[in-house]
Amino acid sequence: MAKRHYIIPVFVPHQGCPHDCVFCNQREITGFQEEMTPKKVERIIEEYISTMDRKNSKIEIAFYGGSFTGLEIKDQTRLLEVAYRYCQKGLVDNLRLSTRPDYIDREILTNLTKYNVQVIELGVQSLVNKVLQASCRGHTAEDVVKSSQLIKEFGFDLGIQLMPGLPESTEDSMIYSVQKAVGLVPDLVRIYPTLIIGGTQLAELYYQGDFKPLTLMEAVEICKQELKLFRTYGIPVIRIGLQPSSGVNKEAVIAGPFHSAFRQLVESSLALERIKTYLGDNVNEDQLTFKVNSKFNSVLRGQKNNNLKVLKEEYGIETKVEIDDSLTNREILISEKKKKI
Ligand code: SF4
Repeated sequence: MAKRHYIIPVFVPHQGCPHDCVFCNQREITGFQEEMTPKKVERIIEEYISTMDRKNSKIEIAFYGGSFTGLEIKDQTRLLEVAYRYCQKGLVDNLRLSTRPDYIDREILTNLTKYNVQVIELGVQSLVNKVLQASCRGHTAEDVVKSSQLIKEFGFDLGIQLMPGLPESTEDSMIYSVQKAVGLVPDLVRIYPTLIIGGTQLAELYYQGDFKPLTLMEAVEICKQELKLFRTYGIPVIRIGLQPSSGVNKEAVIAGPFHSAFRQLVESSLALERIKTYLGDNVNEDQLTFKVNSKFNSVLRGQKNNNLKVLKEEYGIETKVEIDDSLTNREILISEKKKKI
């Protein structure tokens, strides 16, 4: 039986972060404003652990918030020590954290090696300096390359977070960022299309008419291209879209491509693209039966069966979907053709 994977999220909001990235209002995103203390870390871990089944599970404590290693080393250590005690007791498997590319150096990484930190995720956002500058990130694409290499050299798993749709970004620059990110050989990727959160500089720019977020369909399209590229290189994309479960407070989102099932929109769009590519220009069929794993059923159909409707409207094909759990997730068997795509 596959192990269940639990994350115990500890948000460390804005602490240690002197930056003001245009898209970020950490307090709005996490809903927390107070400083994170060792006592609070312990309370959070205890609360979560009491609801988790340790057997057959992998449990990780994650320090989220985006700038953990910007804290003084002694303050990082105070928080890490609490979490690490749970690893020592065998109640938790390992720790992970997210931070900025310019808050990584040998001293920081050496300290992290003592606390069973397995994954370090970098808020990269873009690998184009013009975009990073316009977003007031305060670091460069070169910082990303250096810190990524150092993280790998120390043997941590490298995570990369990208934000399509930032100011000054174009379709080309977003794809360029993905190509550069692929070159860093990350172990995992998250893609968060830019949303406009209340209280941020981006919100001001938006109200002044100086910034236009991606539309939902544009965001789906670009994220689909990014997902395809990462998959081509076997790099897992573990999240697409900022969901309520990842800490975003929906009420704080003023504008932008927010959708509660954003990833599904992207996956469904990709499934439709695969079918269209297979069909090509010469469509002789008027009926097709797709067989898919039950987990892929809703993805193949699209929201409200949209994919099936598109195939009917654009190709005049009636479609049927049948479940076949012997297929792997994402495999589509076109029954009449005995062809897997
Ligand atoms: S995104 Fe990260 S680095 Fe930027 S202001 Fe927010 S916490 Fe600071």
